[in-house]
Amino acid sequence: MGEEKKTPFIPDFFRQTPSTFVPEWVQAVKPGSTEKAGDLGTRGSARPSVGQSGGKALLLKGGHCIIPHQGIFPLDVKIRGTKIESLGENLSDSQALTVEIRGKYVLPGVIDPHVHLGIFTDFDTELVTETRSALLNGVTTLGLYLGGQDPYLPKLDDIIAKIQKKSFCDIFIHLVILNQKQLEEVPVYYSRYGITSFKTYMCGIPGLIPEVEDDFLLDLMEKVSSLGPDTILNIHAENYRIVQRATQRLRKAEPLSESLTEWERSHPAFAEAEAIQRAAFLSKESGVRIYFVHVSSEKGIQSARDLKQKSKNLFFETTSPYLTLDLEQDLDLLYKMVPPIRSREDQKALWQGLADDTVDTIGSDHTPLSSGQKKRSVSLWDVPPGYPAVGTHLPSLLDRAAGNGLPLDRLVEKMSASPAKIFGLYPGKGTLVPGSDADLVIVDPSLRKEATPQAAASRSDYCLHQGKMLKGWPVAVIKSGQWLTPQSIERAGGTIRGRYLKRG
Ligand SMILES: [Zn+2]
Repeated sequence: MGEEKKTPFIPDFFRQTPSTFVPEWVQAVKPGSTEKAGDLGTRGSARPSVGQSGGKALLLKGGHCIIPHQGIFPLDVKIRGTKIESLGENLSDSQALTVEIRGKYVLPGVIDPHVHLGIFTDFDTELVTETRSALLNGVTTLGLYLGGQDPYLPKLDDIIAKIQKKSFCDIFIHLVILNQKQLEEVPVYYSRYGITSFKTYMCGIPGLIPEVEDDFLLDLMEKVSSLGPDTILNIHAENYRIVQRATQRLRKAEPLSESLTEWERSHPAFAEAEAIQRAAFLSKESGVRIYFVHVSSEKGIQSARDLKQKSKNLFFETTSPYLTLDLEQDLDLLYKMVPPIRSREDQKALWQGLADDTVDTIGSDHTPLSSGQKKRSVSLWDVPPGYPAVGTHLPSLLDRAAGNGLPLDRLVEKMSASPAKIFGLYPGKGTLVPGSDADLVIVDPSLRKEATPQAAASRSDYCLHQGKMLKGWPVAVIKSGQWLTPQSIERAGGTIRGRYLKRG
C-alpha cells in the first residue's frame, strides 16, 4: 500500500466535483499539534439532535482529525446530509449546528471486517443487538460472515432486506463457501448481490463448520479470481490434521481440562504458519487475492512477513482480542476461541506485524455467546468457541496501541482505511475527505472507564476486559450524518438505519 501514502491526496471522485471546497491541507499538508484533552462541550452551540438534516450542516469545531496515511491535523469538519462536505481551519457557518470538540480526536468510523451474527441465537435478534453494540462503540461498518452448508441464493434477498430494516451499522457480506453447490453460485453472488469477498476454512470448527481439502480450495481460488481483480478469498488458515493430532493427544491426557493453556497447545502455532504458506503457494497459479483472517501467532506472522515480500496479493488480519488478551492474565473459559488466545510473545509479534505492515487490518471476530452458553459444558473441550468483541474493539485498542508502539494514526489506518481498501469501500468509507460518508467517531484519548457488559451493549452478559479500566473511549458517533450518543441511540431506536453495501 506504499503508493497510497504519497501526496497529492485527492481521490478521483473528489476531482470530479470542482465546486466542492478544497481545504488548504489537501494542497499542503501541515503537521498537527497534539493538544491536551478537555471536556466535550457545546460552548453555547446547540447539541444536534438525532435525525436532523433538512439541509442544515453539522459543524465539528476544534477537534483533531486523524486522516489515515496523512497524519493528525487540527481541522474543523462540516457535514451535510450523509456526507462530509469539507474539512478546514476555522470553518464557519451561521446556519450550521455547531459542536465544540476541543481536545478530542475525530476518526473515520471504524470498519470491523470480521463479525458473525446468528450463530448461537437467531440472526434477527443479533442484527439489532450486536450492530447497536458496534455503533455505540465507534464501529460504523461491519463485514458480516454468512455461513452454512446450503446454497445462499434462496435467502440472500431476505437477509439483505433484514439488514436494511434492522441494522444500526452499514454491512457488507462475506460468504462462506464450503461445497460444490455454493461454489457454482459464486458468480451470481458477485454479479447480482455485489459480493466480492468469500471465505473458506482449511481447518473447520468441530460440530459447526467443516474444513475443505486442497483440491476444493484450488477450485475456489480459481473461481473467485476469474470474477475480477476486485474479488478476494478470505481464509481461515490452520493445518487441520496437525490441530486434530494435537487435540486428540491432549484430550486423551486431560479429558476434564479447564485450562486455556491446554487449548492453546491444541492449536499449535506452526499449524497456522504451515497453512498460511500452503495457501499462499497454491494461490500463485490462480492469481487470487487472499485475505488471511485472524492471524494469532508469532510463527504465523513470520510466515506472513516472508510471503508478503514476494506477493502483492496477500493480506493479513489479526483481531483486537489477540492484541489485548493473553494467557498470563486472561485464562477464563469465556475467552475460548479458535485460534486460541496465546502468549505475550505472540501478542508482541502481532503488534510488531502491524507496525511493519505485515498485518493489514484488525477485526474483532465478534461471535456473541452468553456466559451460560459458554459454561454449560463439562470440560474445556466442549465449550463452544467465540466471544462478544465488537463492543470492546475500539476501546481496548485505544488503551493498548501506544504502549505497544503503534501511534494512533497508524492504528486508525488498520481499523478503517485498510479494510475499506481491501474490501472495495474506499474512499467512500475509511477516511475523512470531502465526499466521504459522514461516518465518524469522536474519541476522548484521556477518558478512563471500566469495561462493562453495559458499555459493550451486546446481547451477551459478559464482555472482554470486563472490570478492567481502559483509557481512550469513543464519546460520540456520527453515522450517516447523524450525531449519536448512547442516550440518543436508545431514544431514536428504529430510526437509525444501516445500509447493505453492494460492491463490485
Ligand atoms: Zn471468524
